[in-house]
Amino acid sequence: PNASRAGVVAALDEALGAGTGDRWGDFLVRAREAWDRTRRPLLEEPLWPNWRVLAEREPYPAVPHKRLLRTRRAGTLAEVGAWELRDPRLVALLESHAVAYGLDPRDIPASAAVLPYMEHAFGVWYVRGGIRELARAVYERCVARKVEFLVGAEVAGVVEKDGRAAGVELADGSVTEADHVVAGVDPVRLHGLTGHRLDGDGAVPADRTARRSGRISVLLALRGPREAGAVHRTVVHAPDRTAELDFLSGRAAEPARPTVTVLRPDDPALRPDDEHESVVVTAAARTDVEGEAEGAGERLADLLVEAAEKAVPGLRERLLWREVRTPGHQEAESGAARGGIPAPALAAGDGRFLHPANTTALAGLYRVGGWSHPGGGLPHAGMSGALVAGLIVEGPEFRGSQ
Ligand SMILES: Cc1cc2nc3c(=O)[nH]c(=O)nc-3n(C[C@H](O)[C@H](O)[C@H](O)COP(=O)(O)OP(=O)(O)OC[C@H]3O[C@@H](n4cnc5c(N)ncnc54)[C@H](O)[C@@H]3O)c2cc1C
Repeated sequence: PNASRAGVVAALDEALGAGTGDRWGDFLVRAREAWDRTRRPLLEEPLWPNWRVLAEREPYPAVPHKRLLRTRRAGTLAEVGAWELRDPRLVALLESHAVAYGLDPRDIPASAAVLPYMEHAFGVWYVRGGIRELARAVYERCVARKVEFLVGAEVAGVVEKDGRAAGVELADGSVTEADHVVAGVDPVRLHGLTGHRLDGDGAVPADRTARRSGRISVLLALRGPREAGAVHRTVVHAPDRTAELDFLSGRAAEPARPTVTVLRPDDPALRPDDEHESVVVTAAARTDVEGEAEGAGERLADLLVEAAEKAVPGLRERLLWREVRTPGHQEAESGAARGGIPAPALAAGDGRFLHPANTTALAGLYRVGGWSHPGGGLPHAGMSGALVAGLIVEGPEFRGSQ
């Protein structure tokens, strides 16, 4: 039913009671307004030099809320939930879109309403064979276009010549010259690779983005077939919202059962035969989850599996083995700083949720990827590449979709 607003309204009315569907539907109309106001500057255009406008203006048209003779408007996503949706189950639905990025809805601006709107408008996509098939398809397309790849080659520094980026130096000491250097690493790391101040005064700084949250995934090997009609993706909400948010935001030390996504695609490429099934269970996790205490990653994994039992009947009896992937693994394998995952850029919030511009103070050096404008998630990270291509081909005046 997610393909249509009417379908969503009817499904919610049936599941949560009459009236809840309309309340959610009306919220989506307002979220769409926020999306329409920010889609260009926060997805389709290079970061505005006067980004303060985006940082200061809340694009979400909150409904006036009367309280103790005062009229207030929701300033945070949590207030949108509490004052406009007024049902803990709708609140869980709303906030799960922020929690997926490790964002605490109590701390983020109402503009984060665009997160559920994007999912509603564009859907959730699965790549057959798993996400690596997307990487493979992009790789093959690039090779066909005569792109050369150097794998296993760590960049140790950006080479400068005449005040411009002129290539990269690899860890083995070899140098590759280039007209333009497009760096897909996080801006803090990039700063270390240049030893150069990459942003002038008044730019969105690199160190503003909180990198507290990554993802924990538990990969489950199950005996027995996937039952006919099993749901591809189920979100099992946290039983205790405050405990989840307090742990995620670092206010509490004790892990609580998080909001968990259970993925069971009907894809033969993901199982050895029809007598087995593989299931991926994931949740947002603090990047210091392993550092907290011995075995904390495994304990959190236990909580994920406990939640997944709600979506997979007989899960425990069917379990052959499991593999736990924490943010620590992510950091070790991809170099992603602390295994954190970046969120899409959000308006308002005093600019705390914006990412550094794609251009840098060093001519010829550009930033792409989830930690740069317009932020994280594959669609946004992909857009950063499209924007840098525009800036290189059309020059610094390139204004994206304008
Ligand atoms: C478990 C998990 C699940 C996710 N699920 C989703 C999802 O369902 N949908 C979605 O849209 N997003 C998802 N994401 C987020 C998504 O993966 C990121 O937003 C995206 O990968 C960011 O792209 P990037 O290019 O910035 O960084 P990365 O994909 O991390 O790429 C950076 C690359 O640079 C390389 N590198 C780093 N330093 C150097 C160096 N010095 N020299 C050479 N190479 C270097 C790294 O090895 C890495 O390959 C998920 C992330 C995780 C961890």
